[in-house]
Amino acid sequence: RAKSDGGNTGRFYDTGLQDEIRLKRRLGRDLETAIENDQCYVVFQPIATSAMRIVGYEALLRWRHPELGEIAPSQFIPIAESTGWIGTIGRWMADRALAAAATWRSDLTLSLNLSPLQFRDADLVDTLLGLAERRGIAPDRLAFEVTESATLLGHHRDTVLAMLRRLQDAGARIVMDDFGTGHSSLSNLKDFRFDALKIDRSFVAAMLVDQPSASIIRATIGLGRSLGAVIVAEGVEQQRQLDVLREWGCDQVQGYLIGRPARDVAAGARRSRRDALVDQLRT
Ligand code: C2E
Ligand code: MG
Ligand code: MG
Ligand code: MG
Repeated sequence: RAKSDGGNTGRFYDTGLQDEIRLKRRLGRDLETAIENDQCYVVFQPIATSAMRIVGYEALLRWRHPELGEIAPSQFIPIAESTGWIGTIGRWMADRALAAAATWRSDLTLSLNLSPLQFRDADLVDTLLGLAERRGIAPDRLAFEVTESATLLGHHRDTVLAMLRRLQDAGARIVMDDFGTGHSSLSNLKDFRFDALKIDRSFVAAMLVDQPSASIIRATIGLGRSLGAVIVAEGVEQQRQLDVLREWGCDQVQGYLIGRPARDVAAGARRSRRDALVDQLRT
């Protein structure tokens, strides 16, 4: 369109785009030193049963840029993917989260998000299991959240599924994240046994006012039941949403109502001194 509009239009069309490209380049460069400069940190958001008992935490990455402030993961993760830096960040992230989880009650799970791009690293599974072992976290306390995207569908698909299966065989749970959106679709359920489906928060946000969203959630809960997968609803912000989800048979919930992502987990989630001592004596 910019072209056919003639010579002048380049200005208003290009400046925005060029600024954006320039910003992305800058963020891509800055990201490569963000870890060593102590700008990244991990926050944890509780996951609870629909009866509000916390069963684990999802680790979410944060980046505080010295000049630009907090950058959202939805902005910097795609950049890290395009520069190839996601592998380094992902490893760092997993290790920080595992170190934290080692201080939690041993019945609590840790959920980690994996970018499809991370599966290009043939050592990913060994790396993750190795990090967990060094931190003393049994694989059955781990859940890995993935979305379907280019790589899962593309020619790497079989490789990715084999890697997920290895994690699952080791005892970890595999969760399909953002279920119901373009990133996660039904065809994947045919070829892989997901342990859990996480209903995207866009459906939860609309469920009380939008009939189609309500239907999609109810159908997903039924689908999960017949597949033997746990159903998690994300983005639960209102008590009424929780009540209705529980009534519909949703297993687990996550969202601001239950807890916001925070650097520290609830006091009750930390392991007792006694447990820590018993553990020390064992090793
Ligand atoms: P996600 O895995 O679906 O994570 C859930 C997102 O929803 C998080 O956003 C969380 O803060 C937000 N959220 C949780 N409860 C509520 C709620 O009640 N209301 C609303 N409005 N939002 C809620 P966040 O932390 O900005 O992360 C966005 C996405 O970035 C994540 O979506 C995930 O796909 C990605 N991401 C975050 N950390 C990592 C990471 O360490 N590695 C990878 N590969 N991706 C990550
Ligand atoms: Mg997630
Ligand atoms: Mg999600
Ligand atoms: Mg989501």
